[in-house]
Amino acid sequence: MTNLTTGGCLCGALRYEANSPPTYAGYCFCNDCRKASGGGFIAFMGYPASALRITGDAVTHTLAQSDGRKSERNFCPRCGGLVYGGIRGETDEHTIYAGTLDDPAHFKPAIAIFNSQRPAWVPLPEGLKVFERMPG
Ligand SMILES: [Zn+2]
Ligand SMILES: [Zn+2]
Repeated sequence: MTNLTTGGCLCGALRYEANSPPTYAGYCFCNDCRKASGGGFIAFMGYPASALRITGDAVTHTLAQSDGRKSERNFCPRCGGLVYGGIRGETDEHTIYAGTLDDPAHFKPAIAIFNSQRPAWVPLPEGLKVFERMPG
């Protein structure tokens, strides 16, 4: 038995494993996540960097937010799969994009953020704590 949560990009070149449950998990409906993913939202899980091991090359796309913070999204250079957020070796915390899980059942969403930007064609799952923008 292992408690490892594993996942990675479509081609398998960019991989991760986590040895603890995520500290938070949910959906982001912001316009940036919509554009970055090409879908209606990004499903994310937050992990302390210390709980994660990420292997393989990544291309980082950095976008400045209106509040001055930056979003760093990391893609596999081979297949283009969007895998995680944050800068490896620099940020204390990473978001892992839940669609990359090997076993998607590991994703247990609890929150929805940026609900104010959710397109009408994306249904809001039930049972979540909903934030119209970024919480707190
Ligand atoms: Zn790949
Ligand atoms: Zn977002």
